[in-house]
Amino acid sequence: MLVAKPEISSFQPPIRTLMGPGPSDVHPRVLSALARPTIGHLDPAFVGMMDELKGLLRYAFQTGNELTFAVSAPGSVGMETCFVNLVSPGDKVVVCINGVFGQRMAENVRRCGGTPVIVEDRWGDPVDPAKVEEAFKAHPDAVILAFVHAETSTGALSDAASLAAIARRFGALTIMDCVTSLGGVPVLLDEWGIDAAYSGSQKCLSCTPGLSPVSFSVAAVERIKARKVPCPSWFQDLGLVLGYWSGAKRTYHHTAPVNPLYGLHESLVMLAEEGLENAWQRHRDNHLRLRSGLEALGLSFVVRENARLPQLNTVWVPDGVDEAAVRTRLLQEFGIEIGAGLGALAGRVWRIGLMGHSSRQANITLCLAALESLLHG
Ligand SMILES: *Cc1c(COP(=O)(O)O)cnc(C)c1O
Repeated sequence: MLVAKPEISSFQPPIRTLMGPGPSDVHPRVLSALARPTIGHLDPAFVGMMDELKGLLRYAFQTGNELTFAVSAPGSVGMETCFVNLVSPGDKVVVCINGVFGQRMAENVRRCGGTPVIVEDRWGDPVDPAKVEEAFKAHPDAVILAFVHAETSTGALSDAASLAAIARRFGALTIMDCVTSLGGVPVLLDEWGIDAAYSGSQKCLSCTPGLSPVSFSVAAVERIKARKVPCPSWFQDLGLVLGYWSGAKRTYHHTAPVNPLYGLHESLVMLAEEGLENAWQRHRDNHLRLRSGLEALGLSFVVRENARLPQLNTVWVPDGVDEAAVRTRLLQEFGIEIGAGLGALAGRVWRIGLMGHSSRQANITLCLAALESLLHG
């Protein structure tokens, strides 16, 4: 007996306006790039596209790092790629935790056999550089500093330049999560001296989810080459992946997600056309527009003004309001997705994203009008 044939036809997603913590709205140009014909992943035309992609990513990351490419998996795997390659058993790593994603970094260090030295800040606050300095003074043998530039669980932006400078003074390398920051606020890997960075395709780059741009400095590559214990992950071992993404002769490692990479290429071409500075300014301007509307509705921000992410606006849910019911009605009646609180902020906040192509006036007007009718209508 065969399993009965299911009565299922093509999936047609509803039209949504994506104003949560990612994915963000994908531009029609990116969607149409995804629909272009699939070619072989070792086809010279595809290899040429991969080389362009690396150049576009270097621009987005503001780096000259040779080892800059997109991991064939979501941001979480970009994170793991950084940790499994740079952390060896016994390594001490200073990890800053001011939200969910910092917690995940600490967990990565443990799973690599390292010892995390935790620097904690209140959820909603940026990482305090003074505490990081103290941690290195107490643990001068720490070899890496890891922090989240833009904490998507709270909406706080940390001072990456200051944090990286402290690590450098203590002779440590820096791993930075810039999943939500890349393309939305300045990310200047070379100027700040960041050694390893990972991002995601679906936040301010406004591509579909499932790809993780990463970049590694010369010092990071040296550390990886000097490893005594082999990288515990075969798929993420940069020594192996390298032969696929660089060099004159590309060798098979895994089959790259061909069409998703067309999409990322297109979204990065669009970022370059707009210009990084203009993209940062657009995110700022639209944040200020949304902010005045939210404040007019009586909503207040979780994060203090000088540490707010323009692309992720976290506000307290007013007393007596059923936060989940509001999100459900936003989705069902207006087609708008916003984010709920995570971890320590679960049930207490809304997270309204203005990332990439979602950061535009039409979305702000729609979201504010919908919220007004649900809260005060
Ligand atoms: C979204 C996000 C991630 C994880 O990315 P995925 O693509 O969901 O795996 C990691 N860090 C931060 C700060 C994020 O916002």
